[in-house]
Amino acid sequence: MIELVQGDITKVEQIDAIVNAANSSLLGGGGVDGAIHRAAGEELLFECRLLGGCKTGQAKITKAYKLPCKRIIHTVGPVWNGGSHNEDQLLADCYINSLKLAIENQIRTIAFPSISTGIYSFPVARAAKIAVHTVDQFLKEHPGCFDRVLWVLFDKNTKESYQKEVDLIEKNLDLADSVTESRQTDLQVFACFFQSVIEQDRSAVVICNLEHEIIYMNPSAIENYRKWGGRELLGQSLLNCHNQQSRDKIEKVIEWFKTSKEHNMVYTFYNQKQNKDVYMVALRDQDRLIGYYEKHEYRNAETMKFYDLW
Ligand code: ADP
Repeated sequence: MIELVQGDITKVEQIDAIVNAANSSLLGGGGVDGAIHRAAGEELLFECRLLGGCKTGQAKITKAYKLPCKRIIHTVGPVWNGGSHNEDQLLADCYINSLKLAIENQIRTIAFPSISTGIYSFPVARAAKIAVHTVDQFLKEHPGCFDRVLWVLFDKNTKESYQKEVDLIEKNLDLADSVTESRQTDLQVFACFFQSVIEQDRSAVVICNLEHEIIYMNPSAIENYRKWGGRELLGQSLLNCHNQQSRDKIEKVIEWFKTSKEHNMVYTFYNQKQNKDVYMVALRDQDRLIGYYEKHEYRNAETMKFYDLW
Protein backbone atom coordinates (compact mmCIF):
# COMPACT_ATOMS: atom_id res chain seq x y z
CA MET A 1 0.00 0.00 0.00
CA ILE A 2 2.99 2.32 0.54
CA GLU A 3 4.26 3.63 -2.79
CA LEU A 4 7.13 5.92 -3.73
CA VAL A 5 7.51 8.11 -6.75
CA GLN A 6 9.97 10.81 -7.73
CA GLY A 7 8.26 14.03 -8.78
CA ASP A 8 6.32 17.15 -7.91
CA ILE A 9 3.59 16.67 -5.31
CA THR A 10 1.46 19.45 -6.79
CA LYS A 11 1.06 17.38 -9.95
CA VAL A 12 -0.12 14.06 -8.49
CA GLU A 13 -3.45 12.87 -9.82
CA GLN A 14 -6.06 10.56 -8.36
CA ILE A 15 -5.25 11.26 -4.77
CA ASP A 16 -7.71 12.56 -2.15
CA ALA A 17 -5.22 14.70 -0.24
CA ILE A 18 -1.65 15.90 -0.32
CA VAL A 19 0.36 16.84 2.75
CA ASN A 20 2.18 20.14 2.90
CA ALA A 21 5.43 20.53 4.85
CA ALA A 22 4.33 23.93 6.13
CA ASN A 23 5.80 26.34 8.65
CA SER A 24 4.01 27.26 11.87
CA SER A 25 2.45 30.43 10.44
CA LEU A 26 0.71 28.38 7.70
CA LEU A 27 1.07 31.44 5.50
CA GLY A 28 3.30 29.88 2.89
CA GLY A 29 7.06 29.66 2.58
CA GLY A 30 9.75 28.13 0.42
CA GLY A 31 10.21 24.58 -0.87
CA VAL A 32 7.18 22.37 -1.21
CA ASP A 33 5.06 24.85 0.80
CA GLY A 34 5.69 27.58 -1.77
CA ALA A 35 5.01 25.20 -4.66
CA ILE A 36 1.67 24.13 -3.12
CA HIS A 37 0.53 27.70 -2.47
CA ARG A 38 1.48 28.75 -6.01
CA ALA A 39 -0.33 25.81 -7.59
CA ALA A 40 -3.45 26.06 -5.38
CA GLY A 41 -3.86 29.80 -5.89
CA GLU A 42 -4.31 32.68 -3.46
CA GLU A 43 -7.60 31.39 -2.06
CA LEU A 44 -5.54 28.84 -0.14
CA LEU A 45 -3.75 31.65 1.65
CA PHE A 46 -7.10 33.25 2.57
CA GLU A 47 -8.26 30.00 4.19
CA CYS A 48 -4.90 29.46 5.91
CA ARG A 49 -5.13 32.92 7.50
CA LEU A 50 -8.21 31.74 9.38
CA LEU A 51 -6.47 28.75 10.94
CA GLY A 52 -4.34 30.60 13.50
CA GLY A 53 -1.13 28.79 12.67
CA CYS A 54 -0.09 25.27 13.62
CA LYS A 55 2.31 23.86 16.21
CA THR A 56 5.24 21.64 15.25
CA GLY A 57 4.10 18.02 14.90
CA GLN A 58 0.43 19.00 14.55
CA ALA A 59 -1.70 19.12 11.40
CA LYS A 60 -4.56 21.19 9.95
CA ILE A 61 -6.69 20.69 6.86
CA THR A 62 -7.90 22.99 4.07
CA LYS A 63 -9.52 22.72 0.67
CA ALA A 64 -7.18 22.24 -2.29
CA TYR A 65 -8.54 24.90 -4.70
CA LYS A 66 -6.74 24.64 -8.06
CA LEU A 67 -4.83 21.48 -7.17
CA PRO A 68 -6.04 18.17 -8.62
CA CYS A 69 -6.62 16.67 -5.14
CA LYS A 70 -9.56 17.46 -2.84
CA ARG A 71 -7.84 18.52 0.38
CA ILE A 72 -4.47 19.69 1.69
CA ILE A 73 -3.22 18.62 5.10
CA HIS A 74 -0.71 21.11 6.45
CA THR A 75 1.75 19.78 8.99
CA VAL A 76 4.73 21.50 10.56
CA GLY A 77 7.90 19.42 10.69
CA PRO A 78 10.63 19.99 13.27
CA VAL A 79 13.63 22.13 12.40
CA TRP A 80 16.75 19.94 12.76
CA ASN A 81 18.68 21.11 15.76
CA GLY A 82 21.24 18.36 16.31
CA GLY A 83 18.80 15.54 17.08
CA SER A 84 18.42 15.87 20.83
CA HIS A 85 15.51 18.31 20.81
CA ASN A 86 12.75 15.77 20.33
CA GLU A 87 13.06 16.09 16.54
CA ASP A 88 12.45 12.35 15.92
CA GLN A 89 9.22 12.24 17.89
CA LEU A 90 7.96 15.50 16.40
CA LEU A 91 8.59 14.18 12.90
CA ALA A 92 6.71 10.96 13.72
CA ASP A 93 3.89 13.12 15.15
CA CYS A 94 3.60 14.94 11.79
CA TYR A 95 2.85 11.65 10.03
CA ILE A 96 0.56 10.32 12.78
CA ASN A 97 -1.46 13.53 13.09
CA SER A 98 -1.75 13.91 9.31
CA LEU A 99 -3.06 10.36 8.99
CA LYS A 100 -5.47 10.83 11.91
CA LEU A 101 -6.84 13.99 10.32
CA ALA A 102 -7.16 12.15 7.01
CA ILE A 103 -9.26 9.40 8.61
CA GLU A 104 -11.49 12.01 10.28
CA ASN A 105 -12.09 13.53 6.84
CA GLN A 106 -12.75 10.26 4.99
CA ILE A 107 -9.53 10.58 3.02
CA ARG A 108 -8.47 7.17 1.72
CA THR A 109 -5.57 8.13 -0.56
CA ILE A 110 -2.85 10.52 0.58
CA ALA A 111 0.51 11.79 -0.69
CA PHE A 112 3.36 13.02 1.51
CA PRO A 113 6.51 14.96 0.66
CA SER A 114 9.68 14.30 2.63
CA ILE A 115 8.77 16.43 5.65
CA SER A 116 11.58 18.48 7.25
CA THR A 117 14.42 17.35 4.97
CA GLY A 118 14.61 20.55 2.92
CA ILE A 119 14.90 23.97 4.50
CA TYR A 120 14.46 22.38 7.96
CA SER A 121 17.62 20.25 7.36
CA PHE A 122 16.55 16.97 9.00
CA PRO A 123 19.04 14.29 7.79
CA VAL A 124 17.32 12.41 4.98
CA ALA A 125 18.23 8.83 5.95
CA ARG A 126 17.06 9.35 9.51
CA ALA A 127 13.86 11.12 8.41
CA ALA A 128 13.11 8.33 5.90
CA LYS A 129 13.44 5.66 8.59
CA ILE A 130 11.11 7.49 10.96
CA ALA A 131 8.63 8.38 8.21
CA VAL A 132 8.28 4.92 6.68
CA HIS A 133 8.23 2.99 9.95
CA THR A 134 5.79 5.39 11.58
CA VAL A 135 3.38 5.20 8.65
CA ASP A 136 3.75 1.43 8.34
CA GLN A 137 2.97 1.02 12.04
CA PHE A 138 0.00 3.40 11.79
CA LEU A 139 -1.43 1.48 8.83
CA LYS A 140 -1.12 -1.77 10.77
CA GLU A 141 -2.92 -0.21 13.71
CA HIS A 142 -5.68 1.18 11.45
CA PRO A 143 -6.38 -1.62 9.00
CA GLY A 144 -8.77 -0.82 6.15
CA CYS A 145 -8.57 2.96 6.63
CA PHE A 146 -6.43 3.77 3.59
CA ASP A 147 -6.26 2.54 0.00
CA ARG A 148 -2.99 4.24 -0.91
CA VAL A 149 -0.18 6.11 0.82
CA LEU A 150 2.23 7.69 -1.57
CA TRP A 151 5.48 9.60 -1.04
CA VAL A 152 6.27 12.08 -3.76
CA LEU A 153 9.98 12.71 -3.47
CA PHE A 154 11.57 15.53 -5.29
CA ASP A 155 15.06 14.17 -5.86
CA LYS A 156 16.70 10.81 -6.54
CA ASN A 157 18.74 10.71 -3.36
CA THR A 158 15.68 11.27 -1.15
CA LYS A 159 13.74 8.63 -3.04
CA GLU A 160 16.57 6.12 -2.55
CA SER A 161 16.58 6.71 1.20
CA TYR A 162 12.83 6.06 1.42
CA GLN A 163 13.15 3.04 -0.89
CA LYS A 164 15.68 1.49 1.47
CA GLU A 165 13.22 1.67 4.35
CA VAL A 166 10.31 0.33 2.29
CA ASP A 167 12.52 -2.59 1.19
CA LEU A 168 13.32 -3.35 4.83
CA ILE A 169 9.62 -3.60 5.64
CA GLU A 170 9.03 -5.88 2.68
CA LYS A 171 11.97 -8.05 3.70
CA ASN A 172 10.36 -8.32 7.12
CA LEU A 173 7.21 -9.72 5.50
CA ASP A 174 9.28 -12.06 3.31
CA LEU A 175 10.82 -13.62 6.38
CA ALA A 176 7.42 -14.07 7.98
CA ASP A 177 6.49 -15.87 4.76
CA SER A 178 9.49 -18.16 4.77
CA VAL A 179 9.00 -19.06 8.43
CA THR A 180 6.05 -21.20 7.48
CA GLU A 181 6.28 -24.25 5.29
CA SER A 182 2.87 -23.48 3.78
CA ARG A 183 2.45 -22.80 0.09
CA GLN A 184 2.01 -19.27 -1.23
CA THR A 185 -1.79 -19.38 -1.27
CA ASP A 186 -1.91 -20.49 2.36
CA LEU A 187 0.59 -17.81 3.26
CA GLN A 188 -1.75 -15.04 2.22
CA VAL A 189 -4.33 -16.46 4.60
CA PHE A 190 -1.92 -17.04 7.45
CA ALA A 191 0.28 -13.93 7.23
CA CYS A 192 -2.10 -11.80 9.30
CA PHE A 193 -2.65 -14.62 11.74
CA PHE A 194 1.05 -15.09 12.51
CA GLN A 195 1.63 -11.39 12.76
CA SER A 196 -1.05 -10.97 15.40
CA VAL A 197 0.28 -13.93 17.39
CA ILE A 198 3.77 -12.48 17.59
CA GLU A 199 2.71 -8.87 18.04
CA GLN A 200 0.37 -9.64 20.92
CA ASP A 201 2.97 -11.76 22.70
CA ARG A 202 3.95 -9.86 25.83
CA SER A 203 7.35 -11.53 25.79
CA ALA A 204 9.98 -9.86 23.68
CA VAL A 205 10.53 -11.64 20.35
CA VAL A 206 13.38 -10.69 18.02
CA ILE A 207 13.76 -12.43 14.66
CA CYS A 208 17.17 -12.46 12.97
CA ASN A 209 18.67 -13.91 9.83
CA LEU A 210 21.89 -15.90 9.93
CA GLU A 211 23.94 -12.70 9.69
CA HIS A 212 22.25 -11.68 12.99
CA GLU A 213 20.53 -8.80 11.20
CA ILE A 214 17.33 -7.94 13.06
CA ILE A 215 14.45 -8.54 10.67
CA TYR A 216 11.57 -8.14 13.08
CA MET A 217 10.91 -7.04 16.66
CA ASN A 218 7.52 -7.30 18.28
CA PRO A 219 6.31 -4.30 20.36
CA SER A 220 7.58 -5.91 23.60
CA ALA A 221 11.03 -6.35 22.08
CA ILE A 222 11.08 -2.72 20.93
CA GLU A 223 10.37 -1.75 24.54
CA ASN A 224 12.86 -4.26 25.92
CA TYR A 225 15.65 -3.01 23.66
CA ARG A 226 14.73 0.66 24.02
CA LYS A 227 18.08 1.63 25.55
CA TRP A 228 19.85 0.14 22.52
CA GLY A 229 17.67 2.08 20.08
CA GLY A 230 14.31 0.22 20.05
CA ARG A 231 12.75 0.30 16.59
CA GLU A 232 15.94 1.85 15.18
CA LEU A 233 17.62 -1.54 15.59
CA LEU A 234 15.75 -3.02 12.63
CA GLY A 235 18.31 -3.91 9.98
CA GLN A 236 21.17 -3.79 12.49
CA SER A 237 23.05 -6.65 14.12
CA LEU A 238 21.59 -8.19 17.26
CA LEU A 239 25.18 -8.77 18.36
CA ASN A 240 25.56 -5.02 18.90
CA CYS A 241 23.06 -5.24 21.79
CA HIS A 242 25.05 -7.88 23.66
CA ASN A 243 28.35 -8.12 25.48
CA GLN A 244 31.16 -10.27 24.15
CA GLN A 245 30.21 -13.27 26.28
CA SER A 246 26.63 -13.29 24.99
CA ARG A 247 27.80 -12.72 21.41
CA ASP A 248 30.00 -15.82 21.64
CA LYS A 249 27.05 -17.76 23.01
CA ILE A 250 24.77 -16.68 20.17
CA GLU A 251 27.37 -17.68 17.56
CA LYS A 252 27.81 -21.04 19.28
CA VAL A 253 24.07 -21.69 19.29
CA ILE A 254 23.85 -20.97 15.56
CA GLU A 255 26.65 -23.48 14.92
CA TRP A 256 24.74 -26.03 17.00
CA PHE A 257 21.49 -25.33 15.08
CA LYS A 258 23.41 -25.97 11.86
CA THR A 259 24.66 -29.39 12.91
CA SER A 260 21.23 -31.07 13.00
CA LYS A 261 17.64 -30.27 12.12
CA GLU A 262 16.76 -31.73 15.52
CA HIS A 263 18.72 -28.93 17.24
CA ASN A 264 16.08 -26.25 17.54
CA MET A 265 15.97 -24.59 20.93
CA VAL A 266 18.49 -23.49 23.55
CA TYR A 267 18.06 -21.58 26.81
CA THR A 268 20.88 -19.06 26.72
CA PHE A 269 20.43 -16.93 29.81
CA TYR A 270 18.46 -16.55 33.02
CA ASN A 271 17.93 -12.96 34.12
CA GLN A 272 17.53 -13.32 37.87
CA LYS A 273 16.55 -9.71 38.47
CA GLN A 274 13.63 -9.84 36.07
CA ASN A 275 12.99 -13.57 36.51
CA LYS A 276 13.17 -13.96 32.76
CA ASP A 277 14.49 -16.75 30.60
CA VAL A 278 16.14 -15.90 27.33
CA TYR A 279 16.10 -18.59 24.69
CA MET A 280 16.82 -19.00 21.01
CA VAL A 281 14.79 -21.01 18.52
CA ALA A 282 15.91 -22.10 15.05
CA LEU A 283 13.85 -20.94 12.06
CA ARG A 284 13.93 -23.41 9.18
CA ASP A 285 12.57 -23.44 5.66
CA GLN A 286 11.95 -27.18 5.37
CA ASP A 287 15.24 -28.41 6.87
CA ARG A 288 17.39 -25.45 5.89
CA LEU A 289 18.29 -23.09 8.71
CA ILE A 290 17.35 -19.56 7.64
CA GLY A 291 17.47 -17.64 10.89
CA TYR A 292 16.48 -17.71 14.50
CA TYR A 293 14.41 -15.94 17.03
CA GLU A 294 15.32 -14.85 20.49
CA LYS A 295 12.66 -14.64 23.15
CA HIS A 296 12.69 -13.12 26.65
CA GLU A 297 10.02 -14.80 28.71
CA TYR A 298 8.97 -14.50 32.35
CA ARG A 299 9.26 -17.70 34.36
CA ASN A 300 6.15 -16.93 36.41
CA ALA A 301 2.69 -15.94 35.25
CA GLU A 302 2.67 -12.19 34.97
CA THR A 303 0.67 -10.21 37.48
CA MET A 304 -1.77 -8.94 34.90
CA LYS A 305 -5.38 -8.48 35.81
CA PHE A 306 -7.34 -11.26 34.18
CA TYR A 307 -10.92 -11.03 32.99
CA ASP A 308 -10.71 -7.28 32.57
CA LEU A 309 -13.70 -7.41 30.22
CA TRP A 310 -15.99 -8.02 33.18
P1 ADP B 1 10.92 21.54 5.25
O1 ADP B 1 10.86 23.02 5.57
O2 ADP B 1 9.90 20.74 6.05
O3 ADP B 1 12.29 21.00 5.29
P2 ADP B 1 10.96 21.78 2.32
O4 ADP B 1 9.82 22.15 1.43
O5 ADP B 1 12.09 22.74 2.40
O6 ADP B 1 10.33 21.45 3.75
O7 ADP B 1 11.57 20.37 1.87
C1 ADP B 1 10.94 19.15 2.10
C2 ADP B 1 11.19 18.24 0.92
O8 ADP B 1 10.27 18.58 -0.12
C3 ADP B 1 12.57 18.32 0.31
O9 ADP B 1 13.02 17.00 0.00
C4 ADP B 1 12.33 19.11 -0.97
O10 ADP B 1 13.28 18.77 -1.97
C5 ADP B 1 10.97 18.62 -1.34
N1 ADP B 1 10.20 19.41 -2.31
C6 ADP B 1 10.33 20.71 -2.68
N2 ADP B 1 9.39 21.02 -3.61
C7 ADP B 1 8.64 19.91 -3.80
C8 ADP B 1 7.53 19.57 -4.63
N3 ADP B 1 6.97 20.45 -5.45
N4 ADP B 1 7.04 18.29 -4.58
C9 ADP B 1 7.58 17.37 -3.75
N5 ADP B 1 8.61 17.64 -2.95
C10 ADP B 1 9.14 18.87 -2.97
